[in-house]
Amino acid sequence: AAKNGGRGQFRFYAADLKNEEQERENLLDDLRIALEADQLRLEYQPVVSIKSGAVVCLEALMRWEHPERGEVSPSSFIPVAEESDLINNLGEWALRTACETAAEWPNSVRIAVNVSAVQFANPGLPAVVANALAHSGLAPDRLELELTESIFVGDSIETEQMFANLKKLGVRLALDDFGTGYSSLSYLRSAPFDKIKVDKSFVESCTQKDKNSAKIIAAIVGLSSALNMETTVEGVEAFDQLEVVKSKGAKLVQGFIYSRPLLREEVLERIKQGDFVIEPDGPDKYRPD
Ligand code: C2E
Ligand code: MG
Ligand code: MG
Ligand code: MG
Repeated sequence: AAKNGGRGQFRFYAADLKNEEQERENLLDDLRIALEADQLRLEYQPVVSIKSGAVVCLEALMRWEHPERGEVSPSSFIPVAEESDLINNLGEWALRTACETAAEWPNSVRIAVNVSAVQFANPGLPAVVANALAHSGLAPDRLELELTESIFVGDSIETEQMFANLKKLGVRLALDDFGTGYSSLSYLRSAPFDKIKVDKSFVESCTQKDKNSAKIIAAIVGLSSALNMETTVEGVEAFDQLEVVKSKGAKLVQGFIYSRPLLREEVLERIKQGDFVIEPDGPDKYRPD
């Protein structure tokens, strides 16, 4: 529109860009304050075994209660933080907090923490992870780092080195949002992932007439099991989706059908009650077998 329009329109366009820039600056300033002022928290969403209902892992998800704007979604503030050094501070805070929280859980329950590609490109990351583990006393194999395909845009030798240094710590690595990025299969050949997380976009459409999404889920489950990796299917909201996903061989599911992200206290409460088992929300709350 800016190109075809008159001068006035171009000026509007330029002004919009400037506002957008300003808006990002403001958000970044507020986010810096938020980290200092305790406005950030983590919520924990269960990853559930379809067969037993057991919670095997919880994913830590960052939440920001802005004093004026209310809750700001991580999908809006993480990309802004990634354009500055602040993502490293946020990431370190998340790792420390998540490890401390998980250290209070039974040994059978893991914690998953999202790690930005910017953090992954930072040579200091292994030390940050090691400190979070040492400080909390959490066993390294109970920590799963979630990485997305965007880590592969960097230098491949440095990428390999970072993988080696993280694996040396004994942590697990998961490939998040699989199928949405560049999705080159070549990096699965050598990258040491323990788990693939199927992106929720495939689940959204897996019950529709065109069966391609369901077939892709089946293919990813097969691929990752052939490579000795686990699979978690993300974003399962409805019972018919759960049945499709299960029929395609998936064993682990994360989605609103089992649970929304929970507060730290809610997780502890559930654990205190005994077995941490969740039934899917369904017609009769029955578990498909
Ligand atoms: P993600 O890592 O793929 O996390 C899963 C997202 O799917 C979460 O959104 C979760 O609330 C949402 N979700 C889970 N089950 C369902 C479902 O059944 N239906 C739907 N519609 N959504 C579901 P959330 O919490 O808004 O986070 C969005 C993204 O922000 C995350 O995607 C992740 O990329 C990023 N993020 C969140 N916390 C952190 C963090 O601590 N560090 C970094 N680097 N990124 C984070
Ligand atoms: Mg994730
Ligand atoms: Mg994901
Ligand atoms: Mg995502």
